[in-house]
Amino acid sequence: MKEDYEKLLERAIEQIPKAVFESSRFQIPEADVSTVGNRTILRNFKTIATTFNREPEHLMKYLLRELGAAGDIQGAQAVFQGKFSAAAVQDRINRYAEEFVLCKECGKPDTRLEKRERVHVLRCEACGARNPVRGV
Ligand SMILES: [Zn+2]
Repeated sequence: MKEDYEKLLERAIEQIPKAVFESSRFQIPEADVSTVGNRTILRNFKTIATTFNREPEHLMKYLLRELGAAGDIQGAQAVFQGKFSAAAVQDRINRYAEEFVLCKECGKPDTRLEKRERVHVLRCEACGARNPVRGV
């Protein structure tokens, strides 16, 4: 009986369009930050980029600019020169999500960044909205 119920639930979940299901569960990831000496390491950097469905380089460029720091991507982590609190890093990640991931119209994360001529556009696959965004 229990098994049947689980199968039924699984099938029900499968039938929900993927985009709808994912966005209803979407949460901005929590930054896993630690400082080592004079550097700040964002341990789950790659995971965050993957969650946002954005190029790691794009996210990194934004973080470097907003933190005003030098740094680079090292494997799954991002390493920044200088000491930054977890809250400071989280704040930039939240703002990145607001500006480059979440649809301005419907608030869903099912978006793509496109470049037309020299204009960057955030296109929403859920509602079809297109909004210009600045470059990083
Ligand atoms: Zn939308």
